[in-house]
Amino acid sequence: MIRFGPAGNSQSFYNAGYKSSVDAPKWLNSIGLSAYEYQCNKGVNISKEKARQIGQEAQKYDILISIHAPYYINFGSQEEEKLQKSKEYIYECVEVAKEMKAQRIVFHPGSCAKVERSLAFETAKKAIMEVVNTVKEMQADGIFLCPETMGKKNNLGSSDEIIEICKMDEMLLPTIDFGHINAFEGGSLKTEEDFENLLKKFIDQLGYERMKCFHSHFSRIEYTSQGEKKHWNYEDKQFEPDFEPLAEALYKLKLEPVIICESKDYMAEDALVLKKIYQETLEKRV
Ligand SMILES: [Zn+2]
Repeated sequence: MIRFGPAGNSQSFYNAGYKSSVDAPKWLNSIGLSAYEYQCNKGVNISKEKARQIGQEAQKYDILISIHAPYYINFGSQEEEKLQKSKEYIYECVEVAKEMKAQRIVFHPGSCAKVERSLAFETAKKAIMEVVNTVKEMQADGIFLCPETMGKKNNLGSSDEIIEICKMDEMLLPTIDFGHINAFEGGSLKTEEDFENLLKKFIDQLGYERMKCFHSHFSRIEYTSQGEKKHWNYEDKQFEPDFEPLAEALYKLKLEPVIICESKDYMAEDALVLKKIYQETLEKRV
């Protein structure tokens, strides 16, 4: 089963009269979604009690929870203090994840704006492996750390880099952000074959069992020669990528990822649009 859900709360969640993310699982279930990415992207500022409540609601309503770690993480930094702070953000997320029963922590690997890409990448691999070893001692069984493919040229996180990072340990599971990859590669994801080739590369390198339930982000993203510029909604069809060819590729390769929609304002609504496209793909095949 592919799970669809939003990154954070849609405006319509608030318009429906809800104020707290504690109500998100119930609301998502009521509209037909089954995943939720809780946003700690501006810092890990949630009480244990609230995290526990969200976790209880998520179990009650069968919502798979992931947490997006702070944007400030930079494992490519050459400053020891910044590396240490980056590691601590992940540890804080792990503590929240334990309370929230979240299974996946999504993070951006880091920047290579100030140093040579290869140096930043080697630094990041070493730091991420140290994080993995520490998290193994945190009694966080079942939690995956999910490095994300990035859309800007001066960020670490090409598809090959994410594969190489994930090869280091089974605790690492890729977050494939299709809009990011398309932006990073200047419009590489158009046809079913494009998506299939990308996914096959991940399967070849990491194995089908690990990749079957990979984590992913989907939204239309405007880009320039420097990569990602802006997230749009699904109806903004002048921007790529389309979901139909991806739905076909997922069906063909028997993949069942968690798909988090990161549209600009309509994350939950667009997650439902993606779900509908996927269901139509299945119906065509029967
Ligand atoms: Zn992200």
